Amino acid sequence: MPTFRAPRGTRDLLPDERAGFDRLIRIASSLTQRYGYRPIETPLFEQTAVFERGIGEVTDVVEKELFRIAPRTEESESWALRPEPTAGIVRAYVQPGMQTLPQPVKLTTIGPMFRYDRPQAGRYRQFWQFDVEAIGDPGPAVDAEIVELGHRFYVEAGVEGVEVLVNSIGDGVCRPAYLASLVDYYRTHVDALPPTERERLERNALRLLDSKDPVMTGLNADAPRITDHLCEPCAAHFESAKAHLEALGVPFRVEPGLVRGLDYYTRTAFEFYVAGREGQQQALGGGGRYDGLVELLGGKPTPGIGFGLGLDRVALVLAEQGHPPAAVDGPLAVVAGADPDDTVERLRVATDLRAAGLRVRADLGRRKLGRQLEAAGKDGAHFAVILGDELADGHVQLRDLLAGTQRVVALADLARDLARAEQHHKHG
Ligand code: AMP
Repeated sequence: MPTFRAPRGTRDLLPDERAGFDRLIRIASSLTQRYGYRPIETPLFEQTAVFERGIGEVTDVVEKELFRIAPRTEESESWALRPEPTAGIVRAYVQPGMQTLPQPVKLTTIGPMFRYDRPQAGRYRQFWQFDVEAIGDPGPAVDAEIVELGHRFYVEAGVEGVEVLVNSIGDGVCRPAYLASLVDYYRTHVDALPPTERERLERNALRLLDSKDPVMTGLNADAPRITDHLCEPCAAHFESAKAHLEALGVPFRVEPGLVRGLDYYTRTAFEFYVAGREGQQQALGGGGRYDGLVELLGGKPTPGIGFGLGLDRVALVLAEQGHPPAAVDGPLAVVAGADPDDTVERLRVATDLRAAGLRVRADLGRRKLGRQLEAAGKDGAHFAVILGDELADGHVQLRDLLAGTQRVVALADLARDLARAEQHHKHG
């Protein structure tokens, strides 16, 4: 047993898996550029109040899962690691005056999030999210645009059968009356409620709808539906968002029980699932509209909408669907030498080739040429550059390890020859 292990609920992304993440990050960046989102980076930790206020105190994320940083005695502020990026991004939107930029401000970020959750398959204490936020657009067209962007991310990543569940959870006008009818409903079943749900009933009844407790599944099926209680503007917004989604050909289904775990959502809420795996733990990603959040964090009243897609779960589903993580590319060439001790020349030639932009490994082991070439083959290298007697008059042997051919090349032409061969190999 090793002495130290990664903290419970975290894991190392070893090179193949990390390369798989890089691929997802490249797809996400390419998409967000096409859709006009600009990258933003906010701190991994914030004042705890940003999350308490921005996410809501009566939520699992804040009540149970927040990674709080113990304040040092000489500092009075209380911080927490970010459990999701929206609250921090909206805090940044308000703070340096992004409110005066042309609206909407469309932002994207990718990085680790932290939740002190009970670890299990697909549920970690540190996980990655790809996130977009469009702040300053009341929708409903942008709601569909964002859902379509999320769906396209899964399609381009190669995840099969992704389906979108959508709902409207109303706004400050219609939700209070709906909440009252929800509270009435649960009160008639109060004896059946688990203790946490009973306690939450008075504080935030909406949370009961998205409870993970199995006892609640049956109760929730018969609960009043928000979509039957929407005010006229919310209903019109929802109808229009759905019409836009239909026009874009995004496969979606209305799920009246979908309320999302976070307090700040209004109107459109959505989650992405692999069809047939709609269990609580299986959401690949989700998002929604948060028209009250900017004001809640001290800005002018400003509508907004966004999503967070979990990359760890995408990687898991891709593996389940039979797609191996992306392999890390081997070097284009390995520089080997007939004189096992002459590591200076091998490293010098490799350094020049790298400076010319090529992917090159120098064999720095003091071993026989045959062993160096064997290792180059195992590395997946296309070429071996062999330094021998010809080096004295500025030449090397260039062996094509794939074709099994070899020729003499002037050192001065080597970088150009290799670059050409790489182009040829890529397109041939
Ligand atoms: P949420 O804000 O809880 O809706 O999370 C958005 C997405 O982030 C989820 O759909 C998951 O893909 C991912 N996610 C949330 N929590 C975790 C976690 N503990 N471990 C891994 N992925 C997570």
